[in-house]
Amino acid sequence: MSGKRIFIIFVIVLISNLLATAQNQQKDMDRFTIVIHGGAGTILKKNMTPEKELEYKNKLKEALTAGYSILANGGNSIDAVETAIKIMEDSPLFNAGKGAVFTNEGKNEMDASIMEGKTLNAGSVAMVNTIKNPISAARMVMEKSPHVMMVGEGAVKFAKEQNLEIVDSAYFYDEKRWLQWQNIKGSNDLELDHSDDRAENNRKEFDAEFSDDGDRKFGTVGAVAIDKNGDIAAGTSTGGMTNKMYGRAGDSPIIGAGTYANNKTCGVSCTGHGEYFIRKVVAYDISALMEYKNLTLQEAADIVIHKKLKEIGGSGGIIAVDSHGNFSLTFNTEGMYRGSMTKEGKPIVSIYKGND
Ligand code: ASP
Repeated sequence: MSGKRIFIIFVIVLISNLLATAQNQQKDMDRFTIVIHGGAGTILKKNMTPEKELEYKNKLKEALTAGYSILANGGNSIDAVETAIKIMEDSPLFNAGKGAVFTNEGKNEMDASIMEGKTLNAGSVAMVNTIKNPISAARMVMEKSPHVMMVGEGAVKFAKEQNLEIVDSAYFYDEKRWLQWQNIKGSNDLELDHSDDRAENNRKEFDAEFSDDGDRKFGTVGAVAIDKNGDIAAGTSTGGMTNKMYGRAGDSPIIGAGTYANNKTCGVSCTGHGEYFIRKVVAYDISALMEYKNLTLQEAADIVIHKKLKEIGGSGGIIAVDSHGNFSLTFNTEGMYRGSMTKEGKPIVSIYKGND
């Protein structure tokens, strides 16, 4: 073969390799995705009015779209997750930030956490009562402190130093939440967001009392996203559960239990009966099953939510995104407020089992 021919072949191979690389990069950049949840539980269509349903769906869409715009414009997944969660924290529809549930002392004590999959950096706050957006405080702990978790007064002091917005504790008050607490105040009952834990009789009484909108204010919130660089982030924020004991923290502020992110595998945000999620280290377990057993995200989520969690009586769900941009919205309850938005740019939100 002449030198000229070899050179031509070389150039052709080089060009096709460059084209393939460019195509792969384009494909990688296309995988940006965001998923969110607003809590899981006994959410039944028969208990919901069309107006209330629309209100939830619109708020979920607003949160999704805000996070998505950040990703679509080349922004990072941590910003997308924080932005989406803040919108839900600011809405009394959800049990996080404004509208958080009451403790057995009639207070709002909130938990939140956030994690980035590239560095495995994470931050969380627990039992905070005057930070308007606990998710932003969790992010500050991650970025501006040498620690992962800060609690109570110390966390609030730190948030103030970071110039986060501090509000009077009355800001979080929501009448329905207050009534929920009045309903079980003084008892040893815990009003979980995830009401399938409640005795059936209690449930009926409760439904009768709150039949105006029929739901039980399910509503821990969370978001998971992958950006155009392939970086995954996950975050969760909650008021916990009604009538929880003073000092109780759930899974939401615990990295590995309620929130986890690792670029090698996936990002996960959980909602459910926290004590069970802590014992089963749910968020990390999904990632570990992918890492050590090579399971797909959906296979791992199914095993953890439908088998491992259920075996010990735990109810709830997860939202997750893997490193290819695949996502999973998996729950073992009647419903989960949830939504997804991929590069197609269409927010898809659902509440009940199925696609509704
Ligand atoms: N996991 C939260 C907790 O136990 C509650 C929830 O997800 O609604 O505090």
